[in-house]
Amino acid sequence: MTDDRAALQHTAAEFVRREVTPHLDDWEAAGEVPRELHAKAARQGLLGVSFPEAVGGEGGDLLDSVAVQEGFLEAGASSGLLAALFTGGIALPHIAATGNQDLIDRFVRPTLAGELIGSLAVTEPGGGSDVAAIRTTARRDGDHYVVNGSKTFITSGVRADFVTTAVRTGGPGHDGISLLVVEKGTPGFTVDRSLAKMGWHCSDTAELGFADSPVPVANLVGEEDSGFAQIAEQFVVERIALAVHAHGIAARSLELAAAYCRERETFGRPLVKNQVVRHTLVEMRRQVEVARTYTRAVAARHVAGESVIAEACLAKQTATDCATYVCDKAVQLHGGTGYLTGTEVERHYRDARILPIGGGASAVLADLTARLMGYA
Ligand SMILES: Cc1cc2nc3c(=O)[nH]c(=O)nc-3n(C[C@H](O)[C@H](O)[C@H](O)COP(=O)(O)OP(=O)(O)OC[C@H]3O[C@@H](n4cnc5c(N)ncnc54)[C@H](O)[C@@H]3O)c2cc1C
Repeated sequence: MTDDRAALQHTAAEFVRREVTPHLDDWEAAGEVPRELHAKAARQGLLGVSFPEAVGGEGGDLLDSVAVQEGFLEAGASSGLLAALFTGGIALPHIAATGNQDLIDRFVRPTLAGELIGSLAVTEPGGGSDVAAIRTTARRDGDHYVVNGSKTFITSGVRADFVTTAVRTGGPGHDGISLLVVEKGTPGFTVDRSLAKMGWHCSDTAELGFADSPVPVANLVGEEDSGFAQIAEQFVVERIALAVHAHGIAARSLELAAAYCRERETFGRPLVKNQVVRHTLVEMRRQVEVARTYTRAVAARHVAGESVIAEACLAKQTATDCATYVCDKAVQLHGGTGYLTGTEVERHYRDARILPIGGGASAVLADLTARLMGYA
């Protein structure tokens, strides 16, 4: 943590106290965050952190975006809000990495300026864990691809102006997958459903359909059939980000629980006077410290240029286990109040449940780690 990063984290937390927490309950009820928030976050210099200035970003690296996310969560933002506001973090990196100036100008710059919203669509109704098995097809026809298929569980997909979409351009398996940017308004491209969820309520989630949708070849991201490698490369950052969501909501839940336990009295004395309560708080703290320290260390190794595919999986597992434990205990220590809709720990408890599923389910990441570490 440098002084600059601490200042960035502080700016993010102040932004949330001013622009987010007064409205978050309304956005949770509405099922989405307003577009205006993207523009405000961009003006504050938060939306483009870790993207190079050459593509319209603010510069900085992954550790800077970790600081921004930690700042958001410490100030009471939700994991769902981060998912909705920073969907560009998963929709844009593949495009930015190609250096394709046309795609950068049309999609990356306006999204980082808060003018457009983009999504990443990999998962299909037939399955999400096995990315190599995707069935949505893109058949080349002159200067267009004709896309057919469907995608589901797509974050910000209801609001998205464009979707970085994994499609099959070649044969079966890893080698036949490409990334295509599909724009809103493309014939045959539809938002078929807005999906209601257990948590992440302010993050809209869509099922998308493609029926003979013509997409210009100019919207191909990188080389044809190189999509799987591009997706796999960017998964590292997504998994570290989800680990930050996890230890961030755990840290916030712990803080709220500790305050409640100091204030709430049972049997004539504050809850915190009971040893079992104090020990629970300490165990929650231990898990938060371990998850945060390890996740930051893995992020730092990534920034230093090391390959941390396995370590990113371990960080996500460590942090999501931490969130599962800590958010549950925070609800328990709040008693009946913790079960009430609108209590902040209740929201974090629900939001925590997606984290071991999204961005790679725990069992799938454990398998990947076993292979990378030579155990299988
Ligand atoms: C709220 C939300 C937002 C999402 N946002 C996006 C998005 O923006 N873009 C996107 O492309 N996707 C998104 N996803 C999809 C997400 O990445 C997938 O849900 C996830 O990868 C799991 O895929 P699946 O749901 O199809 O589960 P499946 O692949 O059907 O697996 C089901 C379960 O089986 C187990 N399992 C699977 N394979 C194995 C195995 N080999 N060994 C042991 N156990 C196994 C795991 O426990 C897994 O959870 C989102 C999902 C949700 C719920």
